[in-house]
Amino acid sequence: MSDTPRTNFIRQIIDADLASAKHERVRTRFPPEPNGCLHIGHAKSIVLNFGIAEDYAGTCNLRFDDTNPHKENLEFVESIKADVRWLGYDWQDRLYFASDYFEQLYGFAVELIEQGLAYVCDLSADDTRARRGTLTEPGQDSPYRERSVEENLDLFRRMRAGEFPDGARTLRAKIDMASPNINLRDPVLYRIRHGVIHHQTGNAWCLYPTYDYTHPISDALEGITHSLCTLEFEDHRPLYDWCVDHVSVPSKPRQIEFSRLNLEYTVMSKRLLTQLVEEGIVTGWDDPRMPTISGLRRRGCTPGAIREFCARIGVTKADNLVEMGLLESTIREDLDREAPRAMAVLRPLKIVLTNLPADAPTAVPVANHPKREDMGNRSVPFGAEIFIDGDDFAEEPPKGFKRLVPGGEVRLRNAYVIRCDEVIKDAAGAVAELRCSVDPDTLGRNPEGRKVKGVIHWVDAATGVPATVRLYDRLFTVPQPGSGGRDFRVDLNPESLCVLSGCIIEPALAAAEPGWRCQFEREGYFVVDPDSVPGAPVFNRTVTLRDTWEKRQAAG
Ligand code: ATP
Ligand code: MG
Repeated sequence: MSDTPRTNFIRQIIDADLASAKHERVRTRFPPEPNGCLHIGHAKSIVLNFGIAEDYAGTCNLRFDDTNPHKENLEFVESIKADVRWLGYDWQDRLYFASDYFEQLYGFAVELIEQGLAYVCDLSADDTRARRGTLTEPGQDSPYRERSVEENLDLFRRMRAGEFPDGARTLRAKIDMASPNINLRDPVLYRIRHGVIHHQTGNAWCLYPTYDYTHPISDALEGITHSLCTLEFEDHRPLYDWCVDHVSVPSKPRQIEFSRLNLEYTVMSKRLLTQLVEEGIVTGWDDPRMPTISGLRRRGCTPGAIREFCARIGVTKADNLVEMGLLESTIREDLDREAPRAMAVLRPLKIVLTNLPADAPTAVPVANHPKREDMGNRSVPFGAEIFIDGDDFAEEPPKGFKRLVPGGEVRLRNAYVIRCDEVIKDAAGAVAELRCSVDPDTLGRNPEGRKVKGVIHWVDAATGVPATVRLYDRLFTVPQPGSGGRDFRVDLNPESLCVLSGCIIEPALAAAEPGWRCQFEREGYFVVDPDSVPGAPVFNRTVTLRDTWEKRQAAG
């Protein structure tokens, strides 16, 4: 994968800032909230932030935005770190938590109070909301807005000391209840939360700062130059600026918004992803059907393919919905280049070769990659009994069928041309086995004038190893699950997972380690799943060889 950075409007802003010597060094950050695992949308932000740091010889911090302790936990912290590393990025010694700044944030709140720019408000959450006004009507001032600095300092100190129950009081910025921007109508800066054990600060605090207050100050404390976030924060930017302008932070970061990644046939909201996990609709955050980084990894996707996908979608301010086909084709291109080829029979049908010559080879040499000599050859066992895929034989072939039919011929890839002489059926009348004869002149070559259209894959029966293969498909049947207000679960694809348990693979693959990837010829790209145990390998299909979704949808 090229991993070429494509320029974008953010890089142009940075170029200008460096040219005008506004900054010496670019500092970005990736600020996940540890309340779920990362998904492909986060990858867009990671590639943007870490990619800019890399290309401009700057730095990118990993900062956990952990101001909502009741929804967050350490497992998510660890999984996020693992995912960022797996994507190929390194925060070096710059791992931060917003909670590292709780003491400083408290001090800045005291500064605001002392300047008459913040006050303790006793309105309930409902009353605060009721007085906020609407887009067309101004809000109403809180009756507590004119408290004295002394009283505010005293109450705020006692809020911290735990004297008041949850919801009794908040600290609010004193900005403008009539502002056309609702975010500036005296936003809440602190709320009281008793009884939560924070994964970093334990029970040291019962007073928690809001995201809108914490984020700009954390950026400023870390000397972030360009604070890149998604478009929904555009209306929060005046508040972001207000915070850094009114406290004694050491720097003034600039917030720049870009559009979030939306991807067809999946959901990206953490709330919905959490629901899929908690309701057991998927097996976990790393279920290969999930758009999570851990799911994509388990699905067999490489970090390079995800980075390349992020480069291809680009960074703009325009809302958009990216085709799933773009992600799939990026993954496919990457695996086509990198994955060795192998043979696996997913729906085995036995063939007995009735006339195999006595000097027939017991193994045939096969190239590991059709376009890459550097990947070498392997020796694939061959014998008088083999398996082919049941779908490669048809007793009554549909029009245009090029594979095996009674009395017809087909080439076994890298071996002989065979002819089907006899179809053996079981008691129920189903095809149980085929008797075929080989043309001894065709081993690995086509003699003059001999034309055989179909080429099929196979596995030697005597040495083939049983395996389980999981075929994954899109998790939803429609591009925008849950659109129009319906329950997104209505749109789940009932065929998103198909488990084939009686597959037969080449013996060399039996001991492949979880994470090992290959192409099963004619079937797609696969990866060994962590559920594999020696002797019972499990393969996941990453993607098919071609985009077959539209066709299958049309066929119903
Ligand atoms: P939540 O719903 O919990 O707020 P979030 O998607 O905003 O979820 P965060 O952990 O706060 O999750 O996100 C971390 C960073 O990743 C933020 O800077 C956010 O803007 C960015 N990000 C999240 N989702 C996307 C997306 N779909 N596309 C691009 N960036 C995203
Ligand atoms: Mg968020």
